[in-house]
Amino acid sequence: MDRRRWRAFGIVVQVVVLGGIGAAVGVSGARAVAGPAEDAAARARVASLTARVREWFDARKRLVRVDCPKCRGWGRVEDRSGRGATCPRCDGAKQVLASDAYRKVHYDFMSPAYRGRDGAMDAANAAYKEANAARRDALYVNAYRIDRVELVGVNGGSAWVFEGTDSVSRESRWLQLTDPATKKPQWFVYGPETDGAWPPPDAAPPIPEGPLPKREPLAAAELDALRKAVRDAGIVPAVEGARREHGEVVVALFDGAPTDRRALDANAEACVFRLTGVVLAALPDAPAVRVEFLARWRDKFGTVTKRPYRTALLSRAHHAKIVPERLAPEELLALFAWSDVQPEGEVLWWKD
Ligand SMILES: [Zn+2]
Repeated sequence: MDRRRWRAFGIVVQVVVLGGIGAAVGVSGARAVAGPAEDAAARARVASLTARVREWFDARKRLVRVDCPKCRGWGRVEDRSGRGATCPRCDGAKQVLASDAYRKVHYDFMSPAYRGRDGAMDAANAAYKEANAARRDALYVNAYRIDRVELVGVNGGSAWVFEGTDSVSRESRWLQLTDPATKKPQWFVYGPETDGAWPPPDAAPPIPEGPLPKREPLAAAELDALRKAVRDAGIVPAVEGARREHGEVVVALFDGAPTDRRALDANAEACVFRLTGVVLAALPDAPAVRVEFLARWRDKFGTVTKRPYRTALLSRAHHAKIVPERLAPEELLALFAWSDVQPEGEVLWWKD
């Protein structure tokens, strides 16, 4: 194993996670004894990395095939005239690789530099389609147990984890960077293509800034112009808000008329392509558009809130290539990366 560990204070810190319950911090090879403050800081970083590793592995366990959210496991859909057709999302297979878990594992947990590189989103979408077609994902684990977590260099970490029934733990490498969305330090999966040499240097810079624009709402004038452009295009759902995030523009839309899921989906699918075009034209700096379709959700206490139920993502590069008049509606919709959102313990609701 890699013995290069965290030496910022002339010591080596090693942390062993015991049975997933508590963490014991062992300090060895000390030339100088670290002060309690440094020790506490290292423990806090190890705890935050351990929690993050657990979150990542929990998402990896969810890389399984689930009922297709479009046809809900039927394999077929009905178009607006009531005619049956093979489901365009699963191609009739009834199940798809869980796209929310895929996005989390392969995209959201990657470093800001990795996600900010040219074509990152298209590459992730293409990789999802490939994994879905292959019916499995290389990072799927059915079970895991954390062996140990170590700090490496100034902002790195290694997690050693037993995967499935393995008797030898495997290393994953992590970097603590400023999360552009929150401006706070966060652990991301290290990528050799975009994240510099490994191990990170021992002595060094403060945690670097991510290269991506932070999550920020559109300026009021921009939002007004966008609302008007959408209205002028005759698009029925209204723009509720918009923001820039991770190199995308996210536009939230709400349509209060539908009284069932089928009508909600139909209205969303009827406008998504035109809407994406309007947003890309209105915001020439947007590299990609994520349309967030809102719906009413009711929790177990009866509180109703308007929140996303489905999102559709398309990059500017893909949009520019599309010749819509040569595509069937299903083919056009299949070019978007769709994601379904299911807030835990809540149901869709159809009245205010
Ligand atoms: Zn389907």
